[in-house]
This record gives sequence, C-alpha cells and structure tokens, in this order.
Amino acid sequence: MHAFDDEARELTQQVVDYAVRRLAMDPPTLDGPRPQAELEALVPQTITEEGIGGEAALRLFEDVLAPACITIDHPAYLSFIPAAPTQAASAFDLVVSASSIYGGSWLEGAGAVYAENQVLHWLAREAGLPEGAGGTFAQGGTVGNLSALVTARFVARHYRTEAGRPIPDRWAVVCSAEAHSSITAAAAVMDVDVIRVPVGESGKLTGEAIEAAVSDWDSVFAIVATGGTTNFGIVDDLASIADVAQGHDVWLHVDGAYGLAGMLSPEHRHLYEGIERVDSFIVDPHKWLFAPFDACALVYRQPQQARAAHTQHAEYLDLIYDSPEWNPSDYAVNLTRRARGLPLWFSLATHGVSAYRDAIAHGIETAHAFADVVRTRDFVSLVREPELSVVVLERHGWNAADYDLWAREHLEAGRAFLFPSSHQGRPVMRFAVVNPRSSLELMTELLDSMEKER
Ligand SMILES: *Cc1c(COP(=O)(O)O)cnc(C)c1O
Repeated sequence: MHAFDDEARELTQQVVDYAVRRLAMDPPTLDGPRPQAELEALVPQTITEEGIGGEAALRLFEDVLAPACITIDHPAYLSFIPAAPTQAASAFDLVVSASSIYGGSWLEGAGAVYAENQVLHWLAREAGLPEGAGGTFAQGGTVGNLSALVTARFVARHYRTEAGRPIPDRWAVVCSAEAHSSITAAAAVMDVDVIRVPVGESGKLTGEAIEAAVSDWDSVFAIVATGGTTNFGIVDDLASIADVAQGHDVWLHVDGAYGLAGMLSPEHRHLYEGIERVDSFIVDPHKWLFAPFDACALVYRQPQQARAAHTQHAEYLDLIYDSPEWNPSDYAVNLTRRARGLPLWFSLATHGVSAYRDAIAHGIETAHAFADVVRTRDFVSLVREPELSVVVLERHGWNAADYDLWAREHLEAGRAFLFPSSHQGRPVMRFAVVNPRSSLELMTELLDSMEKER
C-alpha cells in the first residue's frame, strides 16, 4: 500500500486526471442528493476484506457519489454562503494533501507556517491591526469564533484575578440578535450566557443599542460584532461598538466569516471603520476569499494572549511547544492541523491581492445591480437594502410551501440551488453572491421564474 510502484503510479494518475476533469467543468453540473436506498442500490458495500480496487472505487465516486453532492461552486448555487475556489487554490489543495505537512508546529511545518503567516499578517494589515498581530487558520468560522471567545474569557478572568475584582458566577457574551448561530453554539460549549441585542429595521448593531440593552457589565467578557451578517450581509457599526467595548474594558471580536472579505474592496472599506480597534477577528477563506473547504483565518491583536489560553501541555508536547517559535496550534482549540491556509496563500501569490479586490467588489456590484432589477418587478420586493453581496426579497402572495416547491423544482431540474430563509417569521428568498460566475443575467432569469403563480 505504501510503495510507489507501477500500480500506485497508475492509480495516482487516474485520481489526478479525475481532479483535472472536475476542475475543467465550466460550469460544473449542479447535481443533488439522492435517497439512502438509491445509493445503497447503486453503491453496494465497498468496504470489504479484499477491497474493490482503486479503479472501481474511483468510478463509483465519479459516476454516483460525486453527483449526489451539490456543487457548491456552481454559478447558480446562491443559497447559504456559496464557495467559489480559484483554480490555483483548488489545484494547490492537491499539493497540500500530497505533502504530509503537519501544520501545528514550527518545528515540523516551518515552511508552511511561514507562508500561512504571510497571509494572516496581510489580513491583519488590511484590517489596520498593529505589527505583531497574528493567529492561525482554524477549521471554520465556528471553531474560529469559539477559539477567540475562549481567549477572551481567559483574558477577562486573568485580569480580574490580578486586579482583585470578583469573578462572576456566569459569564456572558454580547452580540446582535442577528449574529450567526455559531456564537450561540460557542457559548453553549463554554457554558456562558448570550445577551442578544435587538437591532431594529436596519439589522445593524450599534454601540448605542448595546448600552441600552446591557445593564450588568460585570458578567460580560466579550462583545461579538458581525462583519457581514449571514442572512442579510449587513456590517455592524464597528466604530461605535469599539467605543463601548473600550469603555467597559471588554474584548471585541468581529465575526467576519462571510463578510469581512468585503473590506478588501476599496469602495466598501468604509463600512468596516473600527475594525482596526478589535482584539480579534475571523474571516473564512472558504467563503468569500475563494479557497476550498475548509479554512478560517483567525487573527488576534495580541496573539500571546491566545497562546496563554490555548497551548496544550504534556510531557510529549512541551519540548516542541515551549519554544519561542510560532506554533499555529497555540492559537485555537486544536492540536494536529492541516496547513489549510496554503491553498489561499498559493492563489494570492499567483494572482496578487488586486485580483481579489476586483472579484470581491464585482460580487457586491452584481448584488446591488440585482437589487435594482428586483425593484423593477412588481411580484417581489426587497426586504432590506443590500449592503454587501446578499439580496433578500419577498415574493408577494407566496407562503413557505410555495418557496419550497419553487426551490425544489429548480434543484431537481439542475438549474439552481436557492432555498428560502426567513426574516421575522416570514419566508424570504436570499440570493448570496460570492461566485464571480454568478452573473446578473442568470440571477435575473431565476428571479423572473418566480413570477409564475404556484
Ligand atoms: C458561515 C458563518 C459562520 C460559521 O462558519 P463555518 O466555517 O461554517 O463554521 C460564522 N459566522 C458567520 C457570520 C458566518 O457567515
């Protein structure tokens, strides 16, 4: 199994050929899920004592299993937050896999860690954080948010203990009512409370709203602002929130898993004013930075605080981790890690930052142009004015079942993956633009297919 003999060479070639075929699809087919029973009929037991052989397994993957997975980088995949890796990033993911790099420590992965850090330092500079800021690429936004909040609580506990101030019975984190579900999930893991601040019609959390909603600051260890909400693409008012965080001496984290990439567009940078004052932020390369699954860039203003909170200690680890070098595992809730920042590094190095600025700005412009089209159609209306690249609309006269039926018809026909969301208890349709191949024409065609009565 481990010798690179003729058989291994042949199979490797077949696997690489498949990867090239998949990457060359333009556009790829949308595909979709199949019921368990159908998959059982088409793919009988593949795990056997003798094995079925690589060629047969690859054929089953190409013919049955892969087509039973929705193609997230299809131009008409407009639900949730799409992914649209660049060719360079996807190709380099193969290299990361082939290279057996341990990305947790400098000792083992210095070259990879060095390259990943160039990307993290670039993101920190774009945000306006000072020299010395840094972090790691964690698995995803959920783990990134959790890791940042664990650091925040560690720091709060440490400083209060040092200052002789009481430690609260229950800690709490403050966020917007429209913050991502992963904040609640992180709070549950940490066994802390969540104070959700109402945001009103605009969807934008402000410092004022936080001051009005929070009375007991003793329990609060962090505020999480959202740099682009998932449902609407709205960036919270970071500057006024930073004032409040500073005034109450609590940690400020920005969850920019989807939307912080928008700060790379010079025309939209003003939406992120205040980002330079945060203690930590995340942004997911697998969302709007065009990298393959899965990666979250997690950046701290003062990484040594994260290191104090996260470094694991054991006889077998301390030799490596008690070192002055940069060990990525010290900055998140993980130890072994794939060097998952490398595909983004390679693609950025290949194309340059300005290609990214253009592609992100193009997504925002396409979404806003689409909103203009929506305004001209009398069967729909916008639920809110778009800010980044998410457009949310209501089809007049439709209930949840109507949206669902329309969505399923499009999926089954291989035309689009667009599923309804909801806002204030009402079903709505979201068009999330990340993929540069999601054209205004395509989106308009899909919109107009909603005109027909159900
Ligand atoms: C997607 C998203 C997350 C979660 O990120 P994962 O990578 O899916 O874990 C968190 N916050 C926001 C705002 C998101 O859009």
